[in-house]
Amino acid sequence: MSLELKDGKFFRDGNPEPLKFGDKEQIKLMTERIETIKALNGEGLLVHVDLETTYTAYLSFKCTCGVRLNPRFEIESERHYHLNGEIFICHSCKAKYVVNQDKDGMITVKSRP
Ligand SMILES: [Zn+2]
Repeated sequence: MSLELKDGKFFRDGNPEPLKFGDKEQIKLMTERIETIKALNGEGLLVHVDLETTYTAYLSFKCTCGVRLNPRFEIESERHYHLNGEIFICHSCKAKYVVNQDKDGMITVKSRP
């Protein structure tokens, strides 16, 4: 099925495949590998770039010890996010909190033992 070239040897479906002189599939794979190595050592290999948009939600409230906390969480979208169950700790007094988010999106925090 799929031919691979690893450590200078050919493998088909994970099994070693002997070098076959003139085999078009092996030649194609070897040529591609050589082109890759040339590009990496030369003008650079062109790569595919995937961009991902992420948002950060910052909460803000005062801990019982008096320190203002701004825990932040990465979210996928500014409209739909789920912070329910997220836990954070006061960096000053080590109090632990958990975020609760109701079905309307209202956010509260509760002490967590
Ligand atoms: Zn605190």
